[in-house]
Amino acid sequence: MTSPVPYTRAEIKGLGTQLPARGIFCPACGLYIPEFADITPEERTELKQASLFETIKTLRTRTGCRLTWAKIWAQHKDGPHPLVTPDTVPCRFCGVPLHPEAGQCLLCRMDWHDPQHLKQLGPSFTDQILSAAPGATICLPSHTSWILALHFAEMHGRQNELTIEFITRDTD
Ligand SMILES: [Zn+2]
Ligand SMILES: [Zn+2]
Repeated sequence: MTSPVPYTRAEIKGLGTQLPARGIFCPACGLYIPEFADITPEERTELKQASLFETIKTLRTRTGCRLTWAKIWAQHKDGPHPLVTPDTVPCRFCGVPLHPEAGQCLLCRMDWHDPQHLKQLGPSFTDQILSAAPGATICLPSHTSWILALHFAEMHGRQNELTIEFITRDTD
């Protein structure tokens, strides 16, 4: 695995409110974990031991990054969060990881709150992902459904054929 190109202070400044677009991808958060050119490997090791607050403070001073970027880094000191954990169960209809008590799936849009009367809540995004022509763009209505869509595309080997997006709202 090649390591991602670190961000320099000047580059970070130029990016304004944009989120990092390079780094290791966290499939659970749907975010890239940025690397910083101004942080030495020694500092990195030290930061791993520091509190969340200290880490964020140090990163902001040393790199000039925004709070959002420092938070993303600080929340991923041990690397990306796994999407499939012992606390998730696969959707019985499409297989994406869900909360064990979920009564519906945001991706295949099945609803099983009443197990006797299964409902389809709307067009299934899983069908779209499976049937879309290579090069197609699929839009998801929320961050959560987008993360599930990325995961589903990967499960079915379509992640490089399709562009999967969600409608963004500015958070900064
Ligand atoms: Zn994460
Ligand atoms: Zn599902």
